[in-house]
Amino acid sequence: MSTVVFWEYRPIGENTLQELARQGITRIELLESPEQFDMADAKSMKYVAESCRSCGIQIVAYHAHKTNFSDLETEEKRRARVDLCKRQIDTMLELGGKVWGSHARTADGILLKCYEDLARYVEGTDVSVVLENFKDEGLWVEDRVAFLDRINHPHIGIVLDVGHVRDTRGANPMTIPGGPTRVLTMCGKHLRFVHLHGFKDGVDHFPPFARGDTMQWVELFRMLRAFNYSGNINFEPKGEPRHRNSIEMTALAPERIVKMEASTGILEEFV
Ligand SMILES: [Zn+2]
Repeated sequence: MSTVVFWEYRPIGENTLQELARQGITRIELLESPEQFDMADAKSMKYVAESCRSCGIQIVAYHAHKTNFSDLETEEKRRARVDLCKRQIDTMLELGGKVWGSHARTADGILLKCYEDLARYVEGTDVSVVLENFKDEGLWVEDRVAFLDRINHPHIGIVLDVGHVRDTRGANPMTIPGGPTRVLTMCGKHLRFVHLHGFKDGVDHFPPFARGDTMQWVELFRMLRAFNYSGNINFEPKGEPRHRNSIEMTALAPERIVKMEASTGILEEFV
């Protein structure tokens, strides 16, 4: 689960992490939160690591959502930004994490160079460096896949965010039967990580199975299985003050999906 559930409301520490552990959630994606800790600084991350350890929580991924590649007009600035990412990856490795992801709002030649540098940096490790799809045009799954085709590196891939997918009519295909199949087919070999949340009325980051959630959970998981997806999945609902029961609903979600899948009995249609 992502620590976005505490974003802008509760600081990351033993109290918050303990709450996850109480619900049986022990593996997290840590959301970059510069007002609380510096992901590029080993000393700062030592305190986060200690809190995690004392609660039995393991950091699986870093979500460097504040780290962008948009304002790098000189080579010096570009290198400095890549160095910052490398230092974040270093502390993540130290903490046992395996996936480093950013939003990377502009997908241009500078981003390509930055990601190529990062690809070389993580060669020989089991770290994946990922890009997230977004709602804005130019950042859709098809755009990300085209960008990743250009890099074509086994350590670089997409984090498919199921709430951020859009089609040309502005709809979210992940909420329409057949959509998850098409989108996962599009991601193909580039899929490295998945962000999951509920979706309704055009709004994402709901807890899974929130009242009115239209996400096609069963098809999504059937297709992940059909594609032999072996990476991690990460539930990413927002929490308080917007949603009061996100952690509890996330803890229950895997079992609900399994039950739903068992009760629909149309597996053959998708495999
Ligand atoms: Zn996401």
